[in-house]
Amino acid sequence: MLQLAHPELLAMLNAVRAAGIVTRAVQADLVNAGTLTKDDKSPVTVADFASQAVVARYLEMMADDYPLVAEEDADELRQDENAHLRAAVTERVVTQWSDATEDGVLDAIDRGRADCDGTGKYFTLDPIDGTKGFLRGEHYAIALGMIEDGVVTAAALGCPNLRGPAGERGVVFVAAKGAGAMSMSLMGEIEAEQVARVSGNDDPANIRFCQSVVKAHSHQGRAGEVAKLLGVTAEPVAMDSQCKYALVGRGDAELYLRIPRDDVYVEKIWDHAAGSLVVTEAGGSVTDVNGKPLDFGHGRLLEANRGVVASNGPNHGAVIEALQQTA
Ligand code: AMP
Ligand code: MG
Repeated sequence: MLQLAHPELLAMLNAVRAAGIVTRAVQADLVNAGTLTKDDKSPVTVADFASQAVVARYLEMMADDYPLVAEEDADELRQDENAHLRAAVTERVVTQWSDATEDGVLDAIDRGRADCDGTGKYFTLDPIDGTKGFLRGEHYAIALGMIEDGVVTAAALGCPNLRGPAGERGVVFVAAKGAGAMSMSLMGEIEAEQVARVSGNDDPANIRFCQSVVKAHSHQGRAGEVAKLLGVTAEPVAMDSQCKYALVGRGDAELYLRIPRDDVYVEKIWDHAAGSLVVTEAGGSVTDVNGKPLDFGHGRLLEANRGVVASNGPNHGAVIEALQQTA
């Protein structure tokens, strides 16, 4: 029934599933070849571009004319010295878009350059969120959101390394504003969907919280102080990407904390659009660290917000208070 909430949602789901198959194949080859290294970013580049091309193509099949605000563009790929990279990306894309040409792939990637002033209807994409996780052979996400006049109204969030209820690897979450959230296997039948609901735990002592693996992305010291004030006993779970929103959305964690380390960094819309809708439609709460709702109406950045707090709800206010005490 979620598919009917927005005509775009099925195309978004199919796009993310196809991109998930591509990125997963690249990651599997890297793992098998033993070439995963933390310092060399090039392996993730192929997957990043291929993922964006595939998603853009799927959206294009749905409608000729749609604005896409995405993390990547094809400038680098168009350079002569990157012919090899271009060929590698196209080779990956062809597995999901059989008649793709190099030029077609470049143009598809550049669909993601739409101007964005926060008005109208557009899509936002992080083709590989959590590149550091991808490179370690761990968690990453393909995050696609639809935004209408600054409000996220539909989301498809692919988590290729998250386990499903039967232990299978690869889960996709879809959510539509006002219609709830669901999850299903990345590879299997779409019909085998499950309703996503946040955890019912309301005792702060039982909060399971998650945060970034990368210490530069969130203030872990302050998160520890917040946890102490709340009486949280469990150790935090560190996970890359918007898979953290998925943990809260399906009730595997009560809290995701993203506490700014400085006053300079401003969060990007593609890092939060899909994940935040999954949590709110699963019955949870999402605000910034000051308790302000995320405002997607400021273009490519969440200019009006600082950091993120996503929770199952009951202790959200207490978390914000504890954050204020540790500021
Ligand atoms: P995560 O995997 O949750 O740590 O988040 C990955 C995302 O963090 C990337 O997509 C980046 O856009 C974003 N990022 C980069 N620098 C920072 C920063 N200084 N603070 C917060 N997020 C950042
Ligand atoms: Mg990202």
